[in-house]
Amino acid sequence: MTTASKTILLTGSAGFIGSHLTERLLADGHTVIGVDNYISGQPANTALFADHPNFRFIRADVSEGIPYKAGAFGGQTLDHVLHFASPASPPHYQQFPIETLMVGAQGTQHALELAHAHGAPLLLASTSEVYGDPQVHPQPESYWGHVNPNGLRSCYDEAKRYAEAITFAYHRHHGVDTRVIRIFNTYGPRMRPDDGRVVTNLIGQALAGGPLTVYGDGQQTRSFQYVTDLVDGIVALMDLPEAAAVHDPVNLGNPDEYTILQFAQVIRELIDPGLAIIHEPLPADDPRQRKPDITRARALLGWVPTVDLHTGLRRTVEEFRRQAAVPATLPQQ
Ligand code: NAD
Ligand code: UDP
Repeated sequence: MTTASKTILLTGSAGFIGSHLTERLLADGHTVIGVDNYISGQPANTALFADHPNFRFIRADVSEGIPYKAGAFGGQTLDHVLHFASPASPPHYQQFPIETLMVGAQGTQHALELAHAHGAPLLLASTSEVYGDPQVHPQPESYWGHVNPNGLRSCYDEAKRYAEAITFAYHRHHGVDTRVIRIFNTYGPRMRPDDGRVVTNLIGQALAGGPLTVYGDGQQTRSFQYVTDLVDGIVALMDLPEAAAVHDPVNLGNPDEYTILQFAQVIRELIDPGLAIIHEPLPADDPRQRKPDITRARALLGWVPTVDLHTGLRRTVEEFRRQAAVPATLPQQ
């Protein structure tokens, strides 16, 4: 533990990233108040910390409000608010488009109001999707993006663009100490096996004997970041004192870029080189390329990702194998 013990409210605590962040913050000696409504997260991720003396959980839809009152848990004023609640995988946010827009809009405002009331910094989990189908490559934070405002992905992309806009408005208008990260494709243990993202789909398919589904010609690219690298970057930005903080967005991603076909080949090598790869139609508005420019994160935080794709995937596959050995207990919506 490098900093004094803090009280941190984290929305989206039962999600994939939220669970890893909770684990790290508790290990660093902080108190974590998780808030989630399980729209895309898993009660099992809350159960992981249920017995930890410094973990509290509030089941709530943050679009309706965040029912936290100082005094509720021993009188703590919040030291940080981290806003991570939002469906994140394309099948999830396309299943819940209104809820996704609302959590980006109302949910972000409720998180900002809470931070304002407590005099706490707010850190917003934004996304590389604010760049849309980018025409600048790799993507620096200064790029304004190329987003279809009414396409299938717009409920997510525009929700996050609005979330950034209202976060900057609270910073400029109310002086809230806000920080914004733009997360690029992140993977690791505790992803929901049924979340429909390429990492979970392909690992699940490979473990089941294939075939692996590559959408389109597979020449579209993504850059995959292992979750503990992301958590290191989040904690480094959260820990920056206000005087040193940058309120502009900070990309957090691994610049190691793969075509989706190459990615499928890596999964195949890791699990079974004999597996077939088949092609299925490319979804509408699927970004052709994505790779972070991480110059700002490196300069500001001294942060660079350290886990390469093969190592991260090996760990993820091991966990999927372990899960498959245990009877499935995934909750339904
Ligand atoms: P996830 O779906 O696993 O986690 C999101 C959590 O938010 C879930 O537990 C869900 O139940 C909760 N949630 C959603 N709406 C809510 C609401 N209205 N009230 C309370 N809880 C709510 O997704 P994730 O991959 O862990 O993503 C976490 C955050 O990081 C999201 O904001 C996402 O947009 C952002 N992000 C993730 C990635 C990635 O690659 N995983 C990339 C870019 C940005
Ligand atoms: N994809 C794929 N096969 C799958 C799932 C996804 O080829 O089974 C592709 C998808 O079309 C996209 C890329 O993999 O080009 C990454 O998709 P994902 O849903 O993981 O995240 P995105 O970056 O698109 O939000």
